[in-house]
Amino acid sequence: MSQGLETETLELPGWQHVYSGKVRDLYIPADAAGIESSDYLLVVASDRISAFDFVLNPPITGKGAVLTALSNWWFEQLEVPNHLVVGAEVAGAPEVPAAVADRAMLTKRLDMYPIECVVRGALTGSGYAEYLRTGEVCGIALPAGMNDGDLLDQPIYTPAYKAPFGEHDENITFEQSAEIVGLEAATALRDVSLSIFAKARELAASRGVLLADTKFEFGRDPQSGELTLADEVLTSDSSRYWDATLYAAGGADRLSSFDKQIVRNWLSANWDKQGEPPVLPDEIVAQTLDRYRELFTRIAG
Ligand code: ATP
Ligand code: MG
Repeated sequence: MSQGLETETLELPGWQHVYSGKVRDLYIPADAAGIESSDYLLVVASDRISAFDFVLNPPITGKGAVLTALSNWWFEQLEVPNHLVVGAEVAGAPEVPAAVADRAMLTKRLDMYPIECVVRGALTGSGYAEYLRTGEVCGIALPAGMNDGDLLDQPIYTPAYKAPFGEHDENITFEQSAEIVGLEAATALRDVSLSIFAKARELAASRGVLLADTKFEFGRDPQSGELTLADEVLTSDSSRYWDATLYAAGGADRLSSFDKQIVRNWLSANWDKQGEPPVLPDEIVAQTLDRYRELFTRIAG
């Protein structure tokens, strides 16, 4: 049975649809009995865009392909085990349908940890909001007087509990994450997240891009038991990237980002957040796709 978002999903030969998030559609092989017992998972990035937890209209045509290419590129750079089925492993796996070849990832189905492994190198977004209320982010106390977008001395790990089926994720402390997955796994998730973030940040910086924060998801490979990086990685849907030059200049647009901030800004100016969000104008759609493409070119191009 399909779960999650009500959305029209493609029929893909050899695969059955099992779940749709706001942005991605998940499929398992047609002959698999269910997601828990499947060896493989096809993660198809749609062109849907979400903001403030709403899926917006129209879709951003081309977005799914750009984000998939960026994610694949990052997986290649990072020296940690990941869920992509590549090389010799492809031989035993079902084929990726041509219709979604540029926006699908063929992956090993993992036992996922229900933790969003967020790493922040700057204070902004929900972290800044929490800091304003409490002076802390996920139980980590920060110096007084910080402003939106300020860099942190050291990147911090601020996990969130991944709520089932589209409910809101909830920021938690490291100790709470250890209650959920055990201390050993929680420690491994934190350490590997911080280490990937440090490497990615350095690489992005060398391309003139500041990686402000990001979110990783991990699972355990049911065959090898190995902690494995999953989901999408370091895309503009899962990360905030800023232009390093604009940031350093410190002007009003210093936090101008390579993600859906254009969409959020337009919505904030044109919608009271009551009821259904308005349809995005063509120029907002075009500008957003441009930003996604520019990030890809800068980072991986
Ligand atoms: P939201 O719309 O809030 O993002 P969501 O996270 O459920 O909701 P998606 O991100 O579109 O929706 O769905 C991807 C799902 O697939 C996530 O639940 C993620 O944890 C899961 N996932 C990613 N890679 C794997 C994998 N290799 N094995 C098992 N599950 C995976
Ligand atoms: Mg998700």
